[in-house]
Amino acid sequence: MEPLSQVSEEKQEIQKQEIDATVYLNFMKSHCCYDVIPTSCKLVIFDTTLQVKKAFFALVANGLRAAPLWDSKLQKFVGMLTITDFINILHCYYKSPMVQMYGLESHRIETWRGDSPQNVYLKYPNHLLVSISPDASLFDAIYSLLRHKIHRLPIIDPESGNVLHILTHKRILKFLHLFGKKLPRPVFLQRQIQELGIGTFRNIATVQQTATLYDALSIFVERRVSALPVVDEQGRVVALYSRFDVINLAAQKIYNNLDMSMREAIHRRSCYVEGVIKCHADETLETIIDRIVKAEVHRLVLVDKADVVKGIVSLSDLLQAMVLTPAGIDALVS
Ligand code: ADP
Ligand code: ADP
Ligand code: AMP
Repeated sequence: MEPLSQVSEEKQEIQKQEIDATVYLNFMKSHCCYDVIPTSCKLVIFDTTLQVKKAFFALVANGLRAAPLWDSKLQKFVGMLTITDFINILHCYYKSPMVQMYGLESHRIETWRGDSPQNVYLKYPNHLLVSISPDASLFDAIYSLLRHKIHRLPIIDPESGNVLHILTHKRILKFLHLFGKKLPRPVFLQRQIQELGIGTFRNIATVQQTATLYDALSIFVERRVSALPVVDEQGRVVALYSRFDVINLAAQKIYNNLDMSMREAIHRRSCYVEGVIKCHADETLETIIDRIVKAEVHRLVLVDKADVVKGIVSLSDLLQAMVLTPAGIDALVS
Protein backbone atom coordinates (compact mmCIF):
# COMPACT_ATOMS: atom_id res chain seq x y z
CA MET A 1 0.00 0.00 0.00
CA GLU A 2 1.19 3.55 -0.84
CA PRO A 3 2.03 5.76 2.12
CA LEU A 4 -0.77 8.20 2.98
CA SER A 5 1.45 11.28 2.47
CA GLN A 6 2.21 10.22 -1.17
CA VAL A 7 -1.47 9.74 -1.98
CA SER A 8 -2.35 13.19 -0.68
CA GLU A 9 0.55 14.81 -2.60
CA GLU A 10 -0.75 13.27 -5.83
CA LYS A 11 -4.26 14.44 -5.00
CA GLN A 12 -2.98 17.96 -4.33
CA GLU A 13 -1.12 17.95 -7.64
CA ILE A 14 -4.28 16.90 -9.54
CA GLN A 15 -6.29 19.58 -7.74
CA LYS A 16 -3.64 22.20 -8.59
CA GLN A 17 -3.71 21.22 -12.27
CA GLU A 18 -7.50 21.53 -12.29
CA ILE A 19 -7.37 25.01 -10.69
CA ASP A 20 -4.58 25.96 -13.10
CA ALA A 21 -6.55 25.01 -16.17
CA THR A 22 -9.62 26.99 -15.20
CA VAL A 23 -8.10 30.14 -13.73
CA TYR A 24 -8.61 32.30 -16.85
CA LEU A 25 -11.88 30.63 -17.72
CA ASN A 26 -13.27 31.56 -14.28
CA PHE A 27 -11.88 35.09 -14.56
CA MET A 28 -13.66 35.62 -17.88
CA LYS A 29 -16.87 34.07 -16.56
CA SER A 30 -16.83 36.34 -13.50
CA HIS A 31 -16.38 39.61 -15.42
CA CYS A 32 -18.90 41.16 -17.74
CA CYS A 33 -18.51 43.17 -20.95
CA TYR A 34 -19.44 46.34 -19.06
CA ASP A 35 -16.18 45.97 -17.03
CA VAL A 36 -13.97 46.48 -20.08
CA ILE A 37 -15.72 49.57 -21.50
CA PRO A 38 -13.36 52.56 -21.26
CA THR A 39 -14.61 55.71 -19.51
CA SER A 40 -14.30 57.61 -22.76
CA CYS A 41 -13.89 56.50 -26.36
CA LYS A 42 -14.82 57.58 -29.87
CA LEU A 43 -17.63 55.79 -31.67
CA VAL A 44 -18.83 56.57 -35.20
CA ILE A 45 -22.03 55.13 -36.66
CA PHE A 46 -22.86 55.01 -40.37
CA ASP A 47 -26.29 55.18 -41.91
CA THR A 48 -26.56 52.45 -44.56
CA THR A 49 -27.50 55.05 -47.20
CA LEU A 50 -24.01 56.61 -46.91
CA GLN A 51 -21.70 56.08 -49.91
CA VAL A 52 -19.11 53.37 -49.18
CA LYS A 53 -16.24 55.59 -50.27
CA LYS A 54 -17.27 58.38 -47.89
CA ALA A 55 -17.63 55.83 -45.09
CA PHE A 56 -14.05 54.61 -45.47
CA PHE A 57 -12.76 58.18 -45.62
CA ALA A 58 -14.71 58.87 -42.43
CA LEU A 59 -13.05 55.89 -40.72
CA VAL A 60 -9.65 57.28 -41.70
CA ALA A 61 -10.54 60.84 -40.63
CA ASN A 62 -11.60 59.57 -37.20
CA GLY A 63 -8.70 57.14 -36.77
CA LEU A 64 -11.13 54.21 -36.41
CA ARG A 65 -11.07 50.63 -37.66
CA ALA A 66 -14.78 49.85 -37.80
CA ALA A 67 -18.29 51.31 -37.38
CA PRO A 68 -21.74 49.88 -36.66
CA LEU A 69 -24.30 50.30 -39.47
CA TRP A 70 -27.67 51.89 -38.77
CA ASP A 71 -30.67 51.22 -40.99
CA SER A 72 -32.98 54.20 -40.56
CA LYS A 73 -35.93 52.44 -42.22
CA LEU A 74 -35.70 49.47 -39.86
CA GLN A 75 -34.58 51.73 -36.98
CA LYS A 76 -31.93 49.24 -35.89
CA PHE A 77 -28.27 48.29 -36.24
CA VAL A 78 -27.89 45.83 -39.08
CA GLY A 79 -24.14 45.13 -39.32
CA MET A 80 -20.60 46.42 -39.14
CA LEU A 81 -18.36 48.09 -41.67
CA THR A 82 -14.71 47.08 -41.25
CA ILE A 83 -11.47 47.24 -43.21
CA THR A 84 -12.22 43.72 -44.46
CA ASP A 85 -15.20 45.23 -46.30
CA PHE A 86 -12.94 47.85 -47.87
CA ILE A 87 -10.62 45.03 -49.01
CA ASN A 88 -13.56 43.06 -50.47
CA ILE A 89 -14.77 46.14 -52.39
CA LEU A 90 -11.32 46.98 -53.78
CA HIS A 91 -10.74 43.37 -54.75
CA CYS A 92 -14.15 43.13 -56.41
CA TYR A 93 -13.94 46.31 -58.55
CA TYR A 94 -10.24 46.78 -59.30
CA LYS A 95 -9.23 46.42 -62.95
CA SER A 96 -6.12 48.57 -63.47
CA PRO A 97 -4.73 51.97 -62.42
CA MET A 98 -6.31 53.47 -65.57
CA VAL A 99 -9.87 52.27 -64.93
CA GLN A 100 -11.99 54.05 -62.35
CA MET A 101 -13.64 51.74 -59.81
CA TYR A 102 -17.26 52.54 -60.51
CA GLY A 103 -18.50 50.34 -57.67
CA LEU A 104 -16.41 52.11 -55.07
CA GLU A 105 -17.30 55.55 -56.42
CA SER A 106 -21.05 54.99 -56.67
CA HIS A 107 -22.31 52.37 -54.21
CA ARG A 108 -24.04 53.14 -51.00
CA ILE A 109 -23.37 50.81 -48.05
CA GLU A 110 -26.83 49.25 -48.48
CA THR A 111 -26.34 48.48 -52.18
CA TRP A 112 -22.95 46.92 -51.53
CA ARG A 113 -24.23 44.80 -48.65
CA GLY A 114 -27.42 43.73 -50.38
CA ASP A 115 -29.76 45.42 -47.88
CA SER A 116 -31.40 47.19 -50.82
CA PRO A 117 -33.08 45.59 -53.88
CA GLN A 118 -30.00 46.33 -56.06
CA ASN A 119 -28.10 43.46 -54.45
CA VAL A 120 -24.46 43.41 -55.46
CA TYR A 121 -23.07 41.73 -52.36
CA LEU A 122 -23.55 38.04 -53.04
CA LYS A 123 -20.23 36.60 -51.94
CA TYR A 124 -20.69 36.93 -48.18
CA PRO A 125 -24.41 36.44 -47.56
CA ASN A 126 -24.24 35.92 -43.81
CA HIS A 127 -23.76 39.37 -42.37
CA LEU A 128 -26.40 39.72 -39.67
CA LEU A 129 -25.15 41.83 -36.80
CA VAL A 130 -23.46 39.88 -34.04
CA SER A 131 -23.62 41.90 -30.82
CA ILE A 132 -23.48 41.36 -27.07
CA SER A 133 -25.18 42.82 -24.01
CA PRO A 134 -23.08 44.70 -21.40
CA ASP A 135 -24.24 42.16 -18.79
CA ALA A 136 -22.95 39.17 -20.75
CA SER A 137 -19.72 37.63 -19.49
CA LEU A 138 -16.36 38.13 -21.16
CA PHE A 139 -16.37 34.38 -21.68
CA ASP A 140 -19.47 34.76 -23.90
CA ALA A 141 -17.81 37.65 -25.74
CA ILE A 142 -14.69 35.58 -26.48
CA TYR A 143 -16.83 32.68 -27.65
CA SER A 144 -18.77 34.99 -29.98
CA LEU A 145 -15.67 36.67 -31.45
CA LEU A 146 -13.97 33.35 -32.15
CA ARG A 147 -17.02 31.38 -33.25
CA HIS A 148 -18.11 34.03 -35.78
CA LYS A 149 -14.51 34.71 -36.85
CA ILE A 150 -14.96 38.46 -36.39
CA HIS A 151 -12.70 41.04 -34.78
CA ARG A 152 -15.32 43.65 -33.75
CA LEU A 153 -18.13 42.90 -31.31
CA PRO A 154 -20.46 45.82 -30.51
CA ILE A 155 -21.73 45.97 -26.94
CA ILE A 156 -25.36 47.06 -27.21
CA ASP A 157 -27.48 48.19 -24.28
CA PRO A 158 -30.70 46.11 -24.57
CA GLU A 159 -32.81 48.89 -23.02
CA SER A 160 -31.73 51.93 -25.03
CA GLY A 161 -30.50 49.99 -28.07
CA ASN A 162 -27.34 52.15 -28.03
CA VAL A 163 -23.91 50.86 -28.97
CA LEU A 164 -21.72 51.41 -25.89
CA HIS A 165 -18.38 50.14 -27.20
CA ILE A 166 -16.82 47.90 -29.83
CA LEU A 167 -15.06 45.03 -28.13
CA THR A 168 -11.91 43.45 -29.57
CA HIS A 169 -9.54 40.60 -28.66
CA LYS A 170 -6.87 43.20 -27.81
CA ARG A 171 -9.06 44.93 -25.25
CA ILE A 172 -9.96 41.64 -23.55
CA LEU A 173 -6.39 40.37 -23.30
CA LYS A 174 -5.20 43.75 -22.04
CA PHE A 175 -7.92 43.69 -19.36
CA LEU A 176 -6.74 40.23 -18.26
CA HIS A 177 -3.15 41.40 -18.26
CA LEU A 178 -3.95 44.42 -16.09
CA PHE A 179 -6.49 42.98 -13.68
CA GLY A 180 -5.53 39.32 -13.66
CA LYS A 181 -2.22 40.03 -11.87
CA LYS A 182 -3.55 38.81 -8.51
CA LEU A 183 -4.74 35.49 -9.96
CA PRO A 184 -2.83 32.29 -9.12
CA ARG A 185 -0.18 31.82 -11.80
CA PRO A 186 -0.89 28.62 -13.71
CA VAL A 187 2.16 26.41 -14.35
CA PHE A 188 1.34 26.20 -18.06
CA LEU A 189 2.49 29.84 -18.41
CA GLN A 190 6.05 28.52 -18.04
CA ARG A 191 5.62 25.88 -20.75
CA GLN A 192 6.90 26.35 -24.28
CA ILE A 193 4.51 27.43 -26.99
CA GLN A 194 5.43 24.40 -29.16
CA GLU A 195 4.70 22.00 -26.26
CA LEU A 196 1.29 23.63 -25.73
CA GLY A 197 0.58 23.68 -29.47
CA ILE A 198 -0.84 27.23 -29.34
CA GLY A 199 -1.04 28.85 -32.79
CA THR A 200 -1.20 27.81 -36.43
CA PHE A 201 1.82 25.95 -37.75
CA ARG A 202 0.65 24.60 -41.10
CA ASN A 203 -0.38 26.17 -44.36
CA ILE A 204 0.60 29.70 -43.33
CA ALA A 205 -0.62 32.35 -45.78
CA THR A 206 2.34 34.57 -46.73
CA VAL A 207 3.04 36.98 -49.57
CA GLN A 208 6.30 37.53 -51.49
CA GLN A 209 7.69 41.06 -51.33
CA THR A 210 7.80 41.05 -55.15
CA ALA A 211 4.07 40.18 -55.44
CA THR A 212 1.56 42.96 -56.12
CA LEU A 213 -0.70 44.54 -53.60
CA TYR A 214 -3.63 43.08 -55.56
CA ASP A 215 -2.12 39.59 -54.96
CA ALA A 216 -2.08 40.31 -51.23
CA LEU A 217 -5.72 41.47 -51.30
CA SER A 218 -6.64 38.25 -53.15
CA ILE A 219 -5.03 36.21 -50.36
CA PHE A 220 -6.93 38.21 -47.72
CA VAL A 221 -10.20 37.55 -49.58
CA GLU A 222 -9.59 33.85 -50.29
CA ARG A 223 -7.92 32.77 -47.05
CA ARG A 224 -9.75 35.23 -44.77
CA VAL A 225 -6.61 35.68 -42.64
CA SER A 226 -6.06 38.91 -40.70
CA ALA A 227 -2.43 39.47 -41.73
CA LEU A 228 0.28 38.23 -44.06
CA PRO A 229 3.94 37.83 -43.25
CA VAL A 230 5.80 39.37 -46.22
CA VAL A 231 8.67 37.05 -47.18
CA ASP A 232 11.77 36.99 -49.37
CA GLU A 233 12.63 34.16 -51.78
CA GLN A 234 14.00 32.02 -48.94
CA GLY A 235 10.76 32.34 -46.98
CA ARG A 236 12.34 34.69 -44.42
CA VAL A 237 10.01 37.29 -42.98
CA VAL A 238 10.86 40.86 -43.95
CA ALA A 239 7.65 42.66 -42.89
CA LEU A 240 4.10 42.14 -41.75
CA TYR A 241 1.13 43.45 -43.73
CA SER A 242 -2.16 43.33 -41.85
CA ARG A 243 -5.70 44.08 -43.03
CA PHE A 244 -5.42 47.27 -40.99
CA ASP A 245 -2.59 48.49 -43.26
CA VAL A 246 -4.96 48.50 -46.27
CA ILE A 247 -6.72 51.55 -44.81
CA ASN A 248 -3.54 53.49 -45.69
CA LEU A 249 -4.67 53.23 -49.31
CA ALA A 250 -7.76 55.26 -48.47
CA ALA A 251 -5.82 57.65 -46.23
CA GLN A 252 -3.36 58.40 -49.04
CA LYS A 253 -5.95 58.09 -51.83
CA ILE A 254 -3.76 55.56 -53.67
CA TYR A 255 -6.29 52.71 -53.80
CA ASN A 256 -6.46 53.00 -57.59
CA ASN A 257 -2.97 51.53 -57.93
CA LEU A 258 -3.06 47.99 -56.65
CA ASP A 259 -0.40 46.96 -59.18
CA MET A 260 2.36 48.30 -56.90
CA SER A 261 4.67 45.70 -55.35
CA MET A 262 4.38 44.69 -51.72
CA ARG A 263 7.82 46.18 -51.19
CA GLU A 264 6.43 49.55 -52.29
CA ALA A 265 3.18 49.14 -50.34
CA ILE A 266 5.18 48.50 -47.14
CA HIS A 267 7.41 51.45 -47.85
CA ARG A 268 4.48 53.79 -48.42
CA ARG A 269 2.35 52.90 -45.40
CA SER A 270 2.23 55.19 -42.40
CA CYS A 271 1.21 54.39 -38.81
CA TYR A 272 2.74 50.96 -38.61
CA VAL A 273 4.78 49.00 -36.07
CA GLU A 274 8.55 49.20 -36.60
CA GLY A 275 10.03 45.81 -37.58
CA VAL A 276 8.27 42.47 -37.28
CA ILE A 277 7.18 41.31 -33.83
CA LYS A 278 8.20 37.65 -33.78
CA CYS A 279 8.46 34.66 -31.49
CA HIS A 280 10.17 31.28 -31.40
CA ALA A 281 8.69 27.85 -30.76
CA ASP A 282 10.75 27.34 -27.57
CA GLU A 283 9.58 30.53 -25.86
CA THR A 284 7.18 30.27 -22.94
CA LEU A 285 3.52 31.21 -23.07
CA GLU A 286 4.18 33.93 -20.48
CA THR A 287 6.85 35.55 -22.67
CA ILE A 288 4.54 35.45 -25.66
CA ILE A 289 1.65 37.07 -23.76
CA ASP A 290 3.90 39.82 -22.38
CA ARG A 291 5.28 40.57 -25.86
CA ILE A 292 1.95 40.63 -27.69
CA VAL A 293 0.28 42.83 -25.04
CA LYS A 294 3.22 45.24 -24.88
CA ALA A 295 3.46 45.57 -28.69
CA GLU A 296 -0.34 46.01 -28.97
CA VAL A 297 -0.47 43.81 -32.06
CA HIS A 298 -2.95 41.11 -32.96
CA ARG A 299 -0.40 38.37 -33.67
CA LEU A 300 3.26 37.31 -33.51
CA VAL A 301 5.04 35.68 -36.44
CA LEU A 302 6.64 32.41 -35.35
CA VAL A 303 10.04 31.98 -37.01
CA ASP A 304 12.98 29.57 -36.86
CA LYS A 305 16.60 30.64 -36.24
CA ALA A 306 16.96 31.74 -39.89
CA ASP A 307 13.82 33.92 -39.65
CA VAL A 308 11.86 31.55 -41.93
CA VAL A 309 8.11 31.74 -41.17
CA LYS A 310 6.90 28.64 -39.32
CA GLY A 311 3.64 29.80 -37.80
CA ILE A 312 1.31 32.47 -36.45
CA VAL A 313 0.34 32.98 -32.83
CA SER A 314 -2.66 35.29 -32.78
CA LEU A 315 -4.81 36.69 -29.98
CA SER A 316 -7.53 34.30 -31.16
CA ASP A 317 -5.19 31.35 -30.50
CA LEU A 318 -4.27 32.65 -27.05
CA LEU A 319 -7.88 33.26 -26.00
CA GLN A 320 -8.89 29.87 -27.38
CA ALA A 321 -6.13 28.10 -25.42
CA MET A 322 -6.45 30.04 -22.16
CA VAL A 323 -10.23 30.37 -21.92
CA LEU A 324 -12.21 28.17 -24.33
CA THR A 325 -10.11 24.97 -24.37
CA PRO A 326 -10.40 24.60 -20.54
CA ALA A 327 -14.19 24.81 -21.05
CA GLY A 328 -14.00 21.99 -23.62
CA ILE A 329 -14.88 24.32 -26.52
CA ASP A 330 -12.99 24.59 -29.80
CA ALA A 331 -14.35 27.72 -31.47
CA LEU A 332 -11.61 28.04 -34.08
CA VAL A 333 -12.61 24.92 -36.03
CA SER A 334 -14.11 25.84 -39.41
P1 ADP B 1 -11.42 43.46 -39.57
O1 ADP B 1 -10.44 42.42 -39.11
O2 ADP B 1 -11.15 43.99 -40.93
O3 ADP B 1 -11.67 44.54 -38.57
P2 ADP B 1 -13.61 41.57 -39.12
O4 ADP B 1 -12.82 40.31 -39.10
O5 ADP B 1 -14.21 41.96 -37.80
O6 ADP B 1 -12.82 42.76 -39.77
O7 ADP B 1 -14.79 41.47 -40.18
C1 ADP B 1 -14.93 40.41 -41.11
C2 ADP B 1 -16.32 40.55 -41.77
O8 ADP B 1 -17.31 40.36 -40.78
C3 ADP B 1 -16.58 41.95 -42.39
O9 ADP B 1 -17.35 41.78 -43.57
C4 ADP B 1 -17.40 42.65 -41.33
O10 ADP B 1 -18.32 43.61 -41.86
C5 ADP B 1 -18.15 41.51 -40.68
N1 ADP B 1 -18.34 41.76 -39.24
C6 ADP B 1 -17.42 42.22 -38.35
N2 ADP B 1 -17.95 42.33 -37.13
C7 ADP B 1 -19.24 41.94 -37.23
C8 ADP B 1 -20.34 41.84 -36.30
N3 ADP B 1 -20.19 42.15 -35.01
N4 ADP B 1 -21.53 41.39 -36.77
C9 ADP B 1 -21.68 41.06 -38.07
N5 ADP B 1 -20.71 41.14 -38.99
C10 ADP B 1 -19.49 41.58 -38.59
P1 ADP C 1 -5.93 45.60 -35.38
O1 ADP C 1 -5.79 46.50 -34.19
O2 ADP C 1 -6.86 46.11 -36.40
O3 ADP C 1 -6.14 44.16 -34.98
P2 ADP C 1 -3.26 44.79 -36.21
O4 ADP C 1 -2.69 44.42 -34.88
O5 ADP C 1 -3.50 43.71 -37.17
O6 ADP C 1 -4.56 45.70 -36.08
O7 ADP C 1 -2.32 45.86 -36.92
C1 ADP C 1 -2.03 47.15 -36.40
C2 ADP C 1 -0.66 47.57 -36.95
O8 ADP C 1 0.33 46.74 -36.36
C3 ADP C 1 -0.52 47.38 -38.48
O9 ADP C 1 0.22 48.45 -39.04
C4 ADP C 1 0.26 46.07 -38.62
O10 ADP C 1 1.09 46.00 -39.77
C5 ADP C 1 1.11 46.09 -37.35
N1 ADP C 1 1.39 44.73 -36.88
C6 ADP C 1 0.49 43.81 -36.47
N2 ADP C 1 1.10 42.66 -36.10
C7 ADP C 1 2.43 42.87 -36.28
C8 ADP C 1 3.61 42.09 -36.06
N3 ADP C 1 3.56 40.86 -35.57
N4 ADP C 1 4.80 42.65 -36.40
C9 ADP C 1 4.88 43.91 -36.88
N5 ADP C 1 3.83 44.68 -37.09
C10 ADP C 1 2.61 44.20 -36.79
P1 AMP D 1 -7.01 35.95 -36.40
O1 AMP D 1 -7.90 36.19 -37.59
O2 AMP D 1 -5.64 36.56 -36.54
O3 AMP D 1 -7.68 36.31 -35.12
O4 AMP D 1 -6.74 34.38 -36.36
C1 AMP D 1 -7.68 33.36 -36.58
C2 AMP D 1 -6.89 32.06 -36.85
O5 AMP D 1 -6.20 32.19 -38.09
C3 AMP D 1 -5.82 31.75 -35.80
O6 AMP D 1 -5.80 30.34 -35.53
C4 AMP D 1 -4.52 32.17 -36.44
O7 AMP D 1 -3.39 31.43 -36.01
C5 AMP D 1 -4.81 31.89 -37.92
N1 AMP D 1 -4.03 32.76 -38.81
C6 AMP D 1 -3.88 34.11 -38.72
N2 AMP D 1 -3.10 34.58 -39.73
C7 AMP D 1 -2.76 33.50 -40.49
C8 AMP D 1 -1.97 33.31 -41.67
N3 AMP D 1 -1.36 34.34 -42.29
N4 AMP D 1 -1.86 32.05 -42.17
C9 AMP D 1 -2.48 31.01 -41.56
N5 AMP D 1 -3.22 31.12 -40.45
C10 AMP D 1 -3.37 32.34 -39.91
